[in-house]
Amino acid sequence: MARIIDGNRIREQIKGELKPRVSRLAARKRVPGLAVVLVGNHAASEVYVRNKVKTCQELGMCSEQITPPDSISTEELLLIVDELNAREDVDGILVQLPLPKQVDTKRILLAISPEKDVDGFHPYNVGCLVAALPAPRACTPAGILQLLKRYQIPIAGKRAVVVGRSDIVGKPVALLLLHEHATVTICHSKTADLAGVCREADILVAAMGRPAMVTADFIKPGATVIDVGTNSLETRQDVARIFRNSAERLAAFDKRGRVLVGDVDPIDVVEKSAAYTPVPGGVGPLTIAMLMANTVESAERRLGVC
Ligand code: NDP
Repeated sequence: MARIIDGNRIREQIKGELKPRVSRLAARKRVPGLAVVLVGNHAASEVYVRNKVKTCQELGMCSEQITPPDSISTEELLLIVDELNAREDVDGILVQLPLPKQVDTKRILLAISPEKDVDGFHPYNVGCLVAALPAPRACTPAGILQLLKRYQIPIAGKRAVVVGRSDIVGKPVALLLLHEHATVTICHSKTADLAGVCREADILVAAMGRPAMVTADFIKPGATVIDVGTNSLETRQDVARIFRNSAERLAAFDKRGRVLVGDVDPIDVVEKSAAYTPVPGGVGPLTIAMLMANTVESAERRLGVC
């Protein structure tokens, strides 16, 4: 039976480690501060932001939400970012994506001071990642590394296959695994014989956004499977097919009208892998934990205590 990699447990562990660091900073009158910019009304983004603010409160950190209207221009948003860059009490700036169409997202992300870029998306910080220099790392990939390390899953010398090449997950997680001395292959929508390549993986990271696409024939027996995908199943038929008529999942669908599934087949992974991250409760909880870690680290760095 495969081992479940419990993201909720590791998130609590990380939060427990951050608390004394926050207290030490607070004792020096430098409570770490996170500013979240949430443009317009985007239901999913509002939930993410609420969770980030709540976690800041739990850790005794300051958080501030800036909520400009949907009609904001690039120039106006740049002004907000500039003000946050200049503020002493703000250690981390997060501009929640996606932004409205009229806003030039790349310009906004470039404008965030790299030292306050707690999402790790600024090209300067991406360069540091490539060069293995210390800098804020993208949160989801950093969280995946924490899961592997804290579950003592060997990485050095192992074959790692990452499916997905996005700037926020696929590429950075591949680089982090490379820095840990894995032999890394990155796959994407044009990869030939995807299942065959995945079957070579000791560590398989699925980050495609394709519900349950990674089935038994993608998984080497005994592999560790990290499922980053977060997909919503919105028909009863899909839930019945993917969860093999599970009464529990069908009941959940009947109650909420949707059920979450990752990029990995939830039944096959239990049978073929040695360890896997469930969806929900695997990778997801780590993303906010690493955002908090990046913010605390930024405060420490700015105060010169790390
Ligand atoms: P993107 O859409 O930016 O990237 C998806 C990648 O998957 C692309 O590189 C694409 O290839 C590749 N891909 C898509 N379809 C296939 C296919 N059929 N075969 C092989 N490769 C394919 O997604 P993100 O990286 O932003 O997110 C990926 C998933 O992870 C999503 O479900 C997202 O919701 C989830 N996510 C979860 C987080 C968490 O905290 N748990 C955080 C961030 C994301 P190509 O480049 O060729 O188009």
